Amino acid sequence: MAVNSAELIEIINLIAHDIQENKDFLTELDSAIGDADHGINMSKGFKAVNEKISTMGDKDCGSILKTVGMTLVSTVGGASGPLYGTAFMRAGQAVGAKKELDFNDLPIILDAALEGIKMRGKAEKGEKTIIDALEPAVEVLKKSSPVDIKLMEEAVKAAKDGVEYTKGIIAKKGRASYLGERSIGHQDPGATSCYIMLAAVYKAIHD
Ligand code: ADP
Ligand code: MG
Ligand code: MG
Repeated sequence: MAVNSAELIEIINLIAHDIQENKDFLTELDSAIGDADHGINMSKGFKAVNEKISTMGDKDCGSILKTVGMTLVSTVGGASGPLYGTAFMRAGQAVGAKKELDFNDLPIILDAALEGIKMRGKAEKGEKTIIDALEPAVEVLKKSSPVDIKLMEEAVKAAKDGVEYTKGIIAKKGRASYLGERSIGHQDPGATSCYIMLAAVYKAIHD
């Protein structure tokens, strides 16, 4: 796999498309343990991203990812905006001025994203957040090299298992933490949107 700037924009547009398709589902999940806006927040953010990056085909991959991050921070009001925004900005820093990415950039990009979210939100695994989907995926991608599509498939599966795992645990961060034990039994919206994005990337590079 080699992904140039124009193809990176296409991948991000596919992420935006799948977020859009899951808007109501994500909002429904957030209505159980939050304030019923996660799908609305993510949809609004990625609509803005879509427009912002449409003319960036001649820019390097780092600049594109950083623009995604800054757009999410400035358009999404909820907790997820600064968290995912920081993730994309960190990913952009990690990639730098490259004009082409390959499979071995995946662990670098996603590890930088994970560290960004942890730095900003101070959450660890097991607290019913985005981290519960993202960290298991990063662990898979870092376990062997070179990275290939099979390993990415396994990483997406690990993220999906992470989403399932959030159903059984107590939320310790964000709005859902106000519910304490009553948050048990509900799937975390942020972990779910993270899985949806990873699955979108997998689909995009698989075809
Ligand atoms: P808000 O809670 O401000 O309405 P959203 O509904 O858009 O924002 O996002 C909620 C999601 O954000 C949660 O489901 C959770 O996964 C994620 N989240 C909240 N706080 C943190 C944190 N400190 N670290 C990582 N993820 C978090
Ligand atoms: Mg919310
Ligand atoms: Mg909110």
